[in-house]
Amino acid sequence: MKKIVIVGGGAGGLQLATRLGKRLGKKNLAEITLIDQNRVHLWKPLLHEVVAGSLDTGAEALSYRAHSSENGYYYRMGSMIGLDKQNKNLTLAPLFDHHNKQVLAQRTVEYDYLVIAVGARSNDFGLAGVREHCTTLDSANEAEDFHLTFLNQFLKYSEESNEEIEHGEYNVPPQLPPVHIAIVGAGATGVELAAELYNAVDRLEQFGVKQIHHTSLQVTLIEAFERILPALPIALASKAQKALEQQGVRILTQTMVKDIQSQKLITADGEIKADLIVWAAGVKAPQFLSQLGLPTNRIHQLEIDSCLNVKGEDAIFAIGDCACLLNGDDKTARPIPPTAQAASQMAALCTYNLQAKLNGQPLKPFAYNDHGTLISLSRFQTLGNLLDELFKKHWMVEGKFAQWAYASLYRQHQMTLHGGWKLFWILLGSFIEKRVKPKLKLY
Ligand SMILES: Cc1cc2nc3c(=O)[nH]c(=O)nc-3n(C[C@H](O)[C@H](O)[C@H](O)COP(=O)(O)OP(=O)(O)OC[C@H]3O[C@@H](n4cnc5c(N)ncnc54)[C@H](O)[C@@H]3O)c2cc1C
Repeated sequence: MKKIVIVGGGAGGLQLATRLGKRLGKKNLAEITLIDQNRVHLWKPLLHEVVAGSLDTGAEALSYRAHSSENGYYYRMGSMIGLDKQNKNLTLAPLFDHHNKQVLAQRTVEYDYLVIAVGARSNDFGLAGVREHCTTLDSANEAEDFHLTFLNQFLKYSEESNEEIEHGEYNVPPQLPPVHIAIVGAGATGVELAAELYNAVDRLEQFGVKQIHHTSLQVTLIEAFERILPALPIALASKAQKALEQQGVRILTQTMVKDIQSQKLITADGEIKADLIVWAAGVKAPQFLSQLGLPTNRIHQLEIDSCLNVKGEDAIFAIGDCACLLNGDDKTARPIPPTAQAASQMAALCTYNLQAKLNGQPLKPFAYNDHGTLISLSRFQTLGNLLDELFKKHWMVEGKFAQWAYASLYRQHQMTLHGGWKLFWILLGSFIEKRVKPKLKLY
């Protein structure tokens, strides 16, 4: 039986493993294995909600082990570090537990067909200080960690404000300077996070945390380009900017960060002090991809052909953020954007092409279908543009409809992973949970 190994169980890889597991694995037509460095999957576009505490990872995360047993594929935990394409096997790094004790030694895994879907992470552009002084939103663990730091900042702020009031004799109690969070990069991640943080502060105020108000937070959004949301139409970006400024976000465009030190950013115009700094300025693929003997670009993405095969490699495919494929004809060709939408479309085609390979049929080329982009500014506003399939035109949407469309993106991902019946129970469960649990994760 042919062995298909998928490395990376994110937006693209997990959808692929689920589909292949159901279509081939369950019928013993091929052995499907999914390898991921984590035990659980959390859809990455939810990470800014984890930071703000609007989403509980414990409730939302999917266990690979449980999911694999229900969907006809095998799951192996591990982190890919090497590849021997002549002998068709890949190497997984030794696995250590949280006490740094080795659990598993270095291993090799054999394949007939390999799909690399290891995603991307923040691009620090070689800037000193990013890794040391900034938070990035590359994984659920980092988002959880930042959430606790965020809560602690406001715990400190609340206690210090209280002490000032209790020990002083004031007609008007003094206001401490707000907690200052700087976000570098005003793409979708930075913009959505800025709004979500104000939502979290409002919730803290509703929970009665003393001396916390909307104005206890100051978010500064820093962008090198001349406007926020550079990848989106200007009308949409202007609306988002207005909505953010109404919440109190300070927006600095055409501002290039030159250096980052402890609690401060150095730009061409001077210093910006911040209690916390988030780095959300672009992505790059994991560096090890450039050391596998496969063709890569300058941000370590694997170069793939239109059928999603790594260029020159018949048995190796790559999908999602770690793959580079140009869209359009030669003159206007631009890389497919690193989005969950693109990863999901690639996963669907890769399912087809792998089955075609097994059956000796021709492969199909990838045709990217840009359904539009939606930006959620937490409970304050949702806006974006959506493709009208009939007229092949993008329309601007906002309000309740945009909010519904935004939520449906995640529901579509869940639908692929769980099917309609299970999704119904999941939705019912989260409906009940929303009514019995606090609106903010406070731990
Ligand atoms: C905060 C945030 C908000 C976003 N919002 C949106 C949005 O609204 N809409 C949208 O379309 N996109 C959004 N994106 C982008 C979207 O999340 C990504 O484009 C998408 O997740 C890419 O899917 P992927 O399968 O390529 O990689 P990922 O989903 O990143 O999955 C990669 C997987 O590979 C695993 N992995 C990595 N390295 C290894 C290794 N060496 N060995 C084994 N496993 C490995 C990881 O653990 C992970 O499970 C957002 C991203 C972020 C960070």
